[in-house]
Amino acid sequence: MDKTEINKKRISSHKNTASGAAEQSLECPDASGDSRKFYIQTFGCQMNVHDSEILAGFLEDLGFQEAAGVEETDILILNTCAIRQKAEEKVFGMIGKLKKMKRENPQLIIGVCGCMAQQEGTAKRIKSRHPHVDLIFGTHNLHRFPHLLKEAEESRETVLDIWPEGKEVVEGLPISRKEGIKAWVTITYGCNNFCSYCVVPYVRGREQSREMSNIVKEVKDLVLKGYKEVTLLGQNVNSYGKDLDNGITFARLLEKLEGIEGLGRIRYMTSHPRDFTRELTRVIYHSEKVCEHFHLPIQSGSNNILKKMNRSYTREHYLEVVSFIRELIPEASITTDFIVGFPGETHEDFLDTLDILERVRFDTSYSFIYSPRKGTMAADMPGQIPLKEKKERLNWLNEIQNSISREINETLRGKSVEVLVEGFSREKPSVLTGRTRTNKLVNFPGKEEMIGKIIPVKIIDVKTWSLNGEVLEA
Ligand code: SF4
Repeated sequence: MDKTEINKKRISSHKNTASGAAEQSLECPDASGDSRKFYIQTFGCQMNVHDSEILAGFLEDLGFQEAAGVEETDILILNTCAIRQKAEEKVFGMIGKLKKMKRENPQLIIGVCGCMAQQEGTAKRIKSRHPHVDLIFGTHNLHRFPHLLKEAEESRETVLDIWPEGKEVVEGLPISRKEGIKAWVTITYGCNNFCSYCVVPYVRGREQSREMSNIVKEVKDLVLKGYKEVTLLGQNVNSYGKDLDNGITFARLLEKLEGIEGLGRIRYMTSHPRDFTRELTRVIYHSEKVCEHFHLPIQSGSNNILKKMNRSYTREHYLEVVSFIRELIPEASITTDFIVGFPGETHEDFLDTLDILERVRFDTSYSFIYSPRKGTMAADMPGQIPLKEKKERLNWLNEIQNSISREINETLRGKSVEVLVEGFSREKPSVLTGRTRTNKLVNFPGKEEMIGKIIPVKIIDVKTWSLNGEVLEA
């Protein structure tokens, strides 16, 4: 492919002021004068979704438009996830299929980024086995995307740029958010915990908090644009501020955001049970905006397995956290994550997990079969559990969880709940959908003008995963 020729007509000066961003960039109209298109396929967690919003922001600043589908795109980015083996295999499958697309359209730029690309071995493997990929970059140099894109367009070789660690928190990046009601705001990057099954500290680096003033400014701007709810994002939001050395804690950040006029709701994810404090619970109790939904991933109910996971809390500590939350906020919903079939998990360990599920009675839980990740401590631990056994345990756990979720939802029948209306349901376009403060999905008939408003809804029917309601007159 002759990239040089293509680039002659695309390179122009660009006034992006983000730190480290390219000083020059790409002219976006093609020969016909139409805007060039981009398509980003995102895998994995909300952190990746938010990174894709930044990539889209850069591309829109450069004058590109989002393509309706992969067939009509000029730039295709795969923002990848490394948390599970399956997700990696899926990405490699997709990369392989793109070869044909590139052959048919040599001008197409293909980029691979995110956690999978951040792993040096994987990045090199993509480069050597899939030369039709133009650009490979990691999680620490996202802010250099315009510069790297320009380089990829100019080069005949695959551009590979992986930074081993993040140097500093880069502020002022453009963000293209799709929704107009709820927004994600990153408060910390990376993680210091090194849970033995997790690749995140290796691919996202050590924990770095954003300055509170930058977070507050971003949230104020979002409110001015009409957003009603923000979710504060970090691998462990509860340790926010520890690296700033200015005494600011997550609880203090919540208090500060509470004062922003026009902001309706505040959520956050994810919490680490070890760092969830009574002080934080008190701040949430006194807050009108912070929602009464506590997502506290426990992963296992067995102290033996928690130790092997390097989670640095015990089941007793977890139960104590649940107890002080429920003491102050009895109506709180508590949700969790479980990993089933961790190496060495005996039948008794698994029964401890079922026991904690029944003691806490989680509103819902997100349960996964343990999947070994290369480079983590757990991948080489003895006692790997056969897949069949892991599946049986998962089904058992899910069965109990489903009946608990249904029973908890049943207690809401006939009650009035406060719902932030998000839009029409995808399945039933005449039905509105939204969430309670406790993060339960509610469907109800209503009018378009209700979208973006917080309204009272009476629950008239319940299911395991959602509630049906009718609007109450305000
Ligand atoms: S807290 Fe543990 S599971 Fe969560 S991102 Fe950090 S290392 Fe991974």
